[in-house]
Amino acid sequence: MNAHNPSGWRPEMGEGNETGPGMITHSGDMGLMVEEPLIFELGGTGDSGAKCGIDLDEPEEMPLAALQPFLRKQAPALPGLTEPETVRHYTRLSRQNYAIDLGPFPLGSCTMKHNPRLNEKVARLPGFADVHPLQPHQTVPGALAVIEQLADWLVALTGMHAVAMSPKAGAHGELCGLLCIRAALEARGDARKVVLVPESAHGTNPATAAFAGYGVESIPGTPDGRVDLAALQARLGPDVAGVMITNPNTCGLFERDMKAMSDAVHAAGGFVYCDGANFNAIVGKVRPGDLGVDAMHINLHKTFSTPHGGGGPGSGPVVLSEALAPYAPLPFVMRGSDGQLRLIEEEDGGEELPDSFGRMSAFHGQMGMFTRALTYILSHGADGLRQVAEDAVLNANYVLRSLEDLLDAPFGASGPCMHEALFSDDGLAEGFSTLDIAKGLIDEGFHPMTVYFPLVVHGAMLVEPTETESKAGLDRFIGSLRNIAERARAGDESLKAAPNLAPRRRLDETRAARKPVLVWREREL
Ligand SMILES: *Cc1c(COP(=O)(O)O)cnc(C)c1O
Repeated sequence: MNAHNPSGWRPEMGEGNETGPGMITHSGDMGLMVEEPLIFELGGTGDSGAKCGIDLDEPEEMPLAALQPFLRKQAPALPGLTEPETVRHYTRLSRQNYAIDLGPFPLGSCTMKHNPRLNEKVARLPGFADVHPLQPHQTVPGALAVIEQLADWLVALTGMHAVAMSPKAGAHGELCGLLCIRAALEARGDARKVVLVPESAHGTNPATAAFAGYGVESIPGTPDGRVDLAALQARLGPDVAGVMITNPNTCGLFERDMKAMSDAVHAAGGFVYCDGANFNAIVGKVRPGDLGVDAMHINLHKTFSTPHGGGGPGSGPVVLSEALAPYAPLPFVMRGSDGQLRLIEEEDGGEELPDSFGRMSAFHGQMGMFTRALTYILSHGADGLRQVAEDAVLNANYVLRSLEDLLDAPFGASGPCMHEALFSDDGLAEGFSTLDIAKGLIDEGFHPMTVYFPLVVHGAMLVEPTETESKAGLDRFIGSLRNIAERARAGDESLKAAPNLAPRRRLDETRAARKPVLVWREREL
């Protein structure tokens, strides 16, 4: 019996494995492609510890008799594994993940960039890592200074007036921005009902507007992939609270009419929310404040290289115009008239921010993300950040122009793209789709690109290489994608079964999401 498989479990064939290599090994592993059951299914023996632990069934052996009444009558239903078995379980699971440290993560719109190790080193310094959010803020002036310094950079880079640091993600920042807009409108006795969102918008934009209580109306795009300025102007009126515009947009293009759109919205009494998720493409080159933006979130995990997910709650600071700054959420780090850094909170009487709309989250932000983002900014400097945007755009254009003869690029004629290259499924053989291309990339050892988004393009494939991929790395990715595109154009049936080389074959995506089978049942060989 295999050491890490004491109960002799087997993956159940039929859940995506039916077209697999057809060979069943004793261990369930295939080469170094490991199978791993749930930790509870590992058939624990009641062991614990680095070697073999105490016997949980013998509580009377406990030395402190006084504790006896409080002891469990039965052992807790925990997996009884030794330390090495536990470590191996999680390490084996981690090897089933694809990660930015394994290869490119070309997810369009998501800006999956390398997380520099210097960020991690600084974030782990005890003075930053060990501060507690409930510590009196007089005892953490260094942490407040980090928040202020990062805030200063974000304000300078965006040309805005102030920044709310507490929102925890991009979508949370959208909500913060819309709540500022609502508070500003209510303050002038002009509650409005509608938020306009372009049809190419990220799903979080209409969702946020609806969540904030607004009716959402869609603004059509132009054939070249941008927002239709005339259609926007035609819809503006006294019921429109504001617009949410992504710039650069989700078709990977810069909204050249942004200033004209902002002017029109302001003339109609509304506010301009900019979805800044794609700021990576223009950081150091364009200041959204110069384009008339009133509020914009910045995803630190996109533009400023902090980890996505896994590293704990994220961070989506929201930069604000002078008109919206008074309504920013508390707590807020501010330098008082005495020159001292202060954390403005509700109980402080709100003298400095009397019109704040309230609170977005429990504390003043995500310290671990702030230290990482500031480290990234300081290690690049102003010129380095500009170079980031230029290299990201160069890489995306290289991908676009290296593939457009094989993959349809619907806006290829609209000029250079920004940070991401957009393709459609037009031109693939009958019966072949974007999904086949994405699954084929898995066999080639790459995480697939973003698929079926933005919705305005049929069978969309959105590739964002980011600036940290080398030319050699991009050539490898492009070579793989060209190989798959050729097979999809030629109608190569084996592509329809892809992935053929991954731990699982192609799943029924709907069933996998709605009725996931999370338990491996034992199976007779
Ligand atoms: C990532 C993204 C969001 C949402 O940001 P989160 O940090 O994931 O909440 C919103 N809009 C666009 C265009 C995005 O790419």
